[in-house]
Amino acid sequence: MTESIETTLQALLHTQSAPDRALYELITSPDCDVELSSLADRVRRQTYGTAVYLRGLIEFTSHCQNDCYYCGIRHSNHMAVRYRLTREEILDCCTEGYALGYRTFVLQGGEDPEYTDDSICRIVCAIREHFPDCAVTLSIGERSYESYLHFFRAGASRYLLRHETADPRHYQMLHPKSMSLAHRKQCLYDLKAIGYQVGSGFLVGSPFQTPAHLIADLCFLQTLSPDMIGIGPFLTQHDTPFAKYPNGSLSLTLRMLSVLRLMFPYALIPATTALGTIHPQGRELGLKAGANVVMSNLSPQSVRQHYALYDHKICTGEESAQCRGCLEQRIKAAGYHAVTDIGDVKRAANEL
Ligand code: SAH
Repeated sequence: MTESIETTLQALLHTQSAPDRALYELITSPDCDVELSSLADRVRRQTYGTAVYLRGLIEFTSHCQNDCYYCGIRHSNHMAVRYRLTREEILDCCTEGYALGYRTFVLQGGEDPEYTDDSICRIVCAIREHFPDCAVTLSIGERSYESYLHFFRAGASRYLLRHETADPRHYQMLHPKSMSLAHRKQCLYDLKAIGYQVGSGFLVGSPFQTPAHLIADLCFLQTLSPDMIGIGPFLTQHDTPFAKYPNGSLSLTLRMLSVLRLMFPYALIPATTALGTIHPQGRELGLKAGANVVMSNLSPQSVRQHYALYDHKICTGEESAQCRGCLEQRIKAAGYHAVTDIGDVKRAANEL
């Protein structure tokens, strides 16, 4: 490890920031990964010990009005199988999840206008009524300030919306003209203003991405100061315009996870399904590199393979209970312990 990288690590450790040039050197240097991840693990243990928070993920609709070039459930993908879960089916997933110990339900889906504000509110209310000791997280894309406010008042307290890339030109290379980075950012600021615990994040290794884009991602996250940060490698889906582009890399994703842990010691950072898909031990490696959340699939087994954002997605053939057991083992094997409480962010008062 060079002296300048050592200086960068110390700066990140003590000030949670570093100059762009130093970050550039760090994220393009493969030879300091061991030191970087052990430092990230140290920081994670200081805030969260060995706790890994479990979230129950319910992928409730594969319909989407958007056309993100990387995503398998994009509107123009006529090969995609579309499904929607009813409120009752969603509640059944929660009942099963509750019995397995989950205390956070993450409702994720494509941008599907069939679910009006009212229907989302009814779903959120029903979950909160049946499971008052659980948090509801929404991840349903871009909506208006008013819609977000309705969902919040209905009882959703967390929202996940990745910015995907913080460089406006790169954003336009990944999305159609109808979408803009400016609007995504506005949504994130709206969600914060309303009082949600907000999660954002980006793809690692998406087509045309450069290290400068990744630095822009870090910089934007510093401005946003989210509670949760989700990143994962870009993975190809064979029926998308990006079918021929290479997957993002495991090592760069792990490196970015560690940098995020150093910059955001308090953040809830998942070892994502995409990370588990790119390598059999991807999630364990993610935990060791600084991640402290794992999301487990609670969707009915019959629909799982149809929420196909990318090829070869893991956990599509299993039952929820099997996923739960498997995760517990993996977390233990990596040297951590699974926690099933509600798992709110542990931010110091001066950081709020
Ligand atoms: N409609 C919601 C949920 C999107 S799916 C929203 O817009 O927020 C959740 C995340 O999956 C996306 O934010 C994206 O970062 C990731 N994703 C989509 N396609 C992917 C792919 N091909 N490879 C890796 N991650 C992908």
